[in-house]
Amino acid sequence: MSGTAHSEHFAPPAPKAGGRVNLIGLTRAEMAEAVRELGEPDFRARQLWHWVYHRGASSIEDMTSLSKDFRARLAARFAVPRPEIASAQTSTDGTRKWLLRFPDGQEVETVFIPQEERGTLCISSQVGCTLTCRFCHTGTQRLVRNLSAAEIVGQIMLARDEVGEWPASSIDRKITNIVLMGMGEPLYNFDNVATAMKIAMDHEGLAFSRRKITLSTSGVVPAMARCGAELGVNLAVSLHAVSDEVRDAIVPLNKKYPIAALLDACRAYPGTHNARRITFEYVMLRGVNDSADDARALAKLLKDIPAKVNLIPFNAWPGAPYECSAAKDIQVFSDILNGAGVSAPIRAPRGRDILAACGQLKSAGQRLKKSEREAATA
Ligand code: SAH
Ligand code: SF4
Repeated sequence: MSGTAHSEHFAPPAPKAGGRVNLIGLTRAEMAEAVRELGEPDFRARQLWHWVYHRGASSIEDMTSLSKDFRARLAARFAVPRPEIASAQTSTDGTRKWLLRFPDGQEVETVFIPQEERGTLCISSQVGCTLTCRFCHTGTQRLVRNLSAAEIVGQIMLARDEVGEWPASSIDRKITNIVLMGMGEPLYNFDNVATAMKIAMDHEGLAFSRRKITLSTSGVVPAMARCGAELGVNLAVSLHAVSDEVRDAIVPLNKKYPIAALLDACRAYPGTHNARRITFEYVMLRGVNDSADDARALAKLLKDIPAKVNLIPFNAWPGAPYECSAAKDIQVFSDILNGAGVSAPIRAPRGRDILAACGQLKSAGQRLKKSEREAATA
């Protein structure tokens, strides 16, 4: 969000790659400006855009419809580097996770979840997260900074490289959906997230429809209207509790923006109707938020909002202070909501064996440091 401490204090580094500016992350206007500065006519900017975002060219040399001379001048100042892959893992269920490292050494994770009818790419918006939801591994990471637009778009480009689906118009795309559900709170880095999503949605570029993009927020109420107006992507809200008392304890941001204010912002979210519902995420924590009464209260809270509920079995991580609810309690919870007319599927955990599931993301560097610390104090 512009004007907040978050974007000013946690700014990403300038988008340079070996002294050259990264074309990935540039908007149409910025690319047009770059081309103009090199003395080329405006239509070249469109060609460049096409090479970068539609064809996914991995070097300027490959942009063969541009003259050799223009390519040389471009390459002197620009490049198209992807984030470096620090490690890559594939789960027994086919989920893939990449730990990506940026030039300043900071790392984030990106996860690809292939399913029969779709393939979802889960991307990060920040290194770590300033919020400290008690059940979330990312929230325990100390180092936090915003990702630049280049770093957010770079995750999509990298994933497309890895699954081999350039050009962006190829039929049978494996990556059909994008969810901003990786590391970080996207609405605390709204400017960069918005720039990146506009690039992702450009139909002559990466070409994701806004209906195929979902932004998940822990409830940054003042930024929600802007998200709806400027991006119009699907909204997912991490609710996780039906009373302020419980939500205060597990999602500390609730003390600033309590449930009533959050639900008002949901009611005002543009484009919401029965065919396009807001998803409420609800992590099932044993003995904390998983009773039948909680389920009934949740149905009541959501009564006048076009909503669906995603019940997420809690994904444990080393040292987590909670346990996952019993399977039968999750089923009862789901049945009560469904019976009250609120669709409430139970999310099948994916990639658990490689710590790629929701809320388990945290850079390996940080994990290593923690285990090193523990070894040192043992
Ligand atoms: N910061 C945003 C998006 C990233 S978190 C948000 O909080 O919405 C994506 C989702 O994973 C959120 O619904 C979050 O509450 C959930 N989550 C976090 N930790 C989890 C865990 N350990 N098990 C299951 N879900 C978790
Ligand atoms: Fe941040 Fe979301 Fe994790 Fe909360 S759940 S700490 S907002 S990433």
